[in-house]
Amino acid sequence: MTSTIDPERIRTLGNGEPDPGARFVLYWMQASQRAEHNPALEFAVQRANETGCPLVVVMVVMPDDPDASVRHLAFAVGGMQRTVRALSRRGIRSCVRVGAPADIVAELAADAVELVVDRGYLRHQRAWYRELPRRVPLRITQVEGDVVVPIDLVSDEVEYAARTIRPKIERHLDRFLVDLHTTAIEDRTTPEGTTSDVDLDTMDGASSIAEWLVDLGVPSDPGPVDGFTPGTSAARSTLRRLLERLDTYHEDRNRFADPDSTSSLSPYLHFGQISPVAVATAVRRRGGEGADAFIDELVVRRELAMNFVARHPEYDSYSALPAWARESLDEHRDDEREHVYTAAELEAGRTHDEIWNEAMRRVREEGWIHNQLRMYWGKQIVRWTNTPEHAHRTLLRLNNRHFLDGRDPNSYANVGWCFGLHDQGFAERDVIGKLRPFTTAALDRKDDIDEWRER
Ligand SMILES: Cc1cc2nc3c(=O)[nH]c(=O)nc-3n(C[C@H](O)[C@H](O)[C@H](O)COP(=O)(O)OP(=O)(O)OC[C@H]3O[C@@H](n4cnc5c(N)ncnc54)[C@H](O)[C@@H]3O)c2cc1C
Repeated sequence: MTSTIDPERIRTLGNGEPDPGARFVLYWMQASQRAEHNPALEFAVQRANETGCPLVVVMVVMPDDPDASVRHLAFAVGGMQRTVRALSRRGIRSCVRVGAPADIVAELAADAVELVVDRGYLRHQRAWYRELPRRVPLRITQVEGDVVVPIDLVSDEVEYAARTIRPKIERHLDRFLVDLHTTAIEDRTTPEGTTSDVDLDTMDGASSIAEWLVDLGVPSDPGPVDGFTPGTSAARSTLRRLLERLDTYHEDRNRFADPDSTSSLSPYLHFGQISPVAVATAVRRRGGEGADAFIDELVVRRELAMNFVARHPEYDSYSALPAWARESLDEHRDDEREHVYTAAELEAGRTHDEIWNEAMRRVREEGWIHNQLRMYWGKQIVRWTNTPEHAHRTLLRLNNRHFLDGRDPNSYANVGWCFGLHDQGFAERDVIGKLRPFTTAALDRKDDIDEWRER
């Protein structure tokens, strides 16, 4: 166990002296929504103990979170509910507020000694970290806890593919796959002026989190999904199930008809409800081919996506796709399409392809499908739309609107992958040019399609 947080995880965003009456250390818990294996939280506890103050952890429910609906926010708030309880068991005060994060954090920070934040990589998250130092004249420390290897240490350029980033990540694994020691908070008092806008146990009398969110103006469609219980305990159980069958992960991971062939950890990772370091450390301890294959997905592939969104200013645009892919798609722009569907027809799952329609139905209703099905689902949209630009916009929108793990760096990188990102050219075909094809026959080779449909 180590209580030190690697200095590469820590950046100073701002410097300034607190007002003489400042009363607490403030941690804005945003990307790392958990009370354990959270280096930003442990750093904030240590700073509170060093300054002789209590700690306040603020979590913000943002009704206009970009692209979010009740599907996403009910899961996020369900996780917060459990994190508030877990923090309370550690004697740490939390404060849940509703509104615009930077306003809320700046207001609370007026009474704080210093501010600690965690780190996300999407455009709106980066904008917060740029804005806060202008509004909060305090020492502001950012602690990066949702990647294994801090992204600035890995690479300052847009990486070409998994094979180029892999050695840059792997050389640091021993250093960053370490346990994080929990520090006890010393001052357990509750500072004035830090009450929550809502008691998450009673939800202002609403019958459910979803109802409460809709009352706040969060879009009700798509609605919540049943398949995933939010929170760190559920994430830990999901990890335990993975560890039981880890030895065969490398052989089974493409078997899309088997719901247990992969971990199903992606929603928990997306909302920061489990630490990728804790997952990778537990997996690595087991060792073996299954563990190696899993770490390649969790660390190399996932952190390649972080690299893409952090380093490419237009990560959500068609223009971010590799030049060879855009050129090839351009050459096939006027090819006759066998089928062309509107975005609405695609979303409703009204195509000639029953397998695709069934995948789309599950995306709509369950908010999650297996990786092989995501590949099939995404690749067909490229073939069935009028222009590649429209295909890219449509796929990204459907992905982020419906997947519980959508709106993630992985969303942008993997939608991009359907258009050649992080991939190589293949033999030229109509419409898709040199993009990697993914046919029904290819899907059929991975697993039994009928078995999947019956399930
Ligand atoms: C068209 C398309 C869209 C996708 N959209 C998303 C999305 O919105 N959000 C999302 O998290 N993933 C997305 N993926 C990547 C991948 O399909 C999911 O991460 C994975 O299926 C999640 O299931 P799991 O947790 O059981 O994965 P496991 O196989 O158990 O892998 C463990 C973890 O490794 C990471 N991982 C696995 N595969 C990939 C990959 N190809 N790229 C990056 N990281 C990976 C994920 O964090 C995953 O939770 C998409 C893939 C495609 C082809």
